Amino acid sequence: MGLALITGVTGQDGTYLVEDLLADGVEVHGLVRPGSIAPINDRVIQHRIDLTDSAGLQGLVSDLQPELIFHLAGQTSVAESWADPVAAINQTGVPTAALLSAIASASPGSRFVNASSAEIFGDAPAPQSEKTPVNPLSPYGAAKALGFFLVQGFRDRGMHASSAILYNHESPRRPEQFVTRKISKAAARIALGRQKTLRLGNLDAARDWGWAPDYVRALRLMAQQETAADYVIGTGESHSVREFVAAAFRVAGIEDWQSHVEIDPEFLRPADPKVQLADSSLARQRLGWAPTVDFAGIAEAMVIADLEAESRS
Ligand code: GDP
Repeated sequence: MGLALITGVTGQDGTYLVEDLLADGVEVHGLVRPGSIAPINDRVIQHRIDLTDSAGLQGLVSDLQPELIFHLAGQTSVAESWADPVAAINQTGVPTAALLSAIASASPGSRFVNASSAEIFGDAPAPQSEKTPVNPLSPYGAAKALGFFLVQGFRDRGMHASSAILYNHESPRRPEQFVTRKISKAAARIALGRQKTLRLGNLDAARDWGWAPDYVRALRLMAQQETAADYVIGTGESHSVREFVAAAFRVAGIEDWQSHVEIDPEFLRPADPKVQLADSSLARQRLGWAPTVDFAGIAEAMVIADLEAESRS
């Protein structure tokens, strides 16, 4: 029960979080960008307010007095942030400041959970934990770091505010600009004879890939803690892009994935963390959180969903 306000309500994590909260009888309100045409769950009460509009946000949280506020909105990807660094700050950094200040002045009893990112650690040695220095490599990481520090500052001043330092998390709802979904969709299309090649960037990059619904559960657990704190959320296993390609193509029934993959410099990034690997001991101990789907399970679920979608279309 209670009332939750979510930013980023139409994204991968937003849709899972909405379903979870509704299933528990929570009244869910979503902040939606004016002009956005993304489909939205019709049980979500929508508020069309720009996330940089401090006065608008203050009015809304003052009216709603939400128990829970989940801040998931932001520029979605690292690649995009190199194309438009100003948008990275405007869409990821500034809204966190606007929300925190609105809550502090108009709804100080709200519990705030910020979706931060492993990108704040840049290329730090693996594994990374809450103790790892923040040292981002990309505009996306820098914008997420700004939000992370703001959350710490407002927490120090008494707000129940936490950041979830989320490692990559995937599902069939992941947009195709992310490498796992690009791969799962291509594997399905190649298996069905609809596509010949898949062009990728750096196959050696290693990421700690988890299952998105598990990460959404972590956000809720963090909000329920008596004391707010930041938590690293990841599986503790890291796999290369190459391994994901092999796993996905195997699910699609293709063993010789090498003959279908080409390296395209267009997808190489100016700076790309080499190995991301989460040490989530704190979340496991204090939140009782643990991932439920492993690397092979994620590849399997994504490719099966894409095979089904492709077969229908
Ligand atoms: P991100 O870590 O949040 O940016 O998630 P992505 O799924 O976009 O990227 C994960 C890793 O895959 C990064 O190290 C990318 O450099 C690497 N990668 C390799 N080829 C590609 C590609 O074709 N597209 C994307 N998006 N990433 C790629």
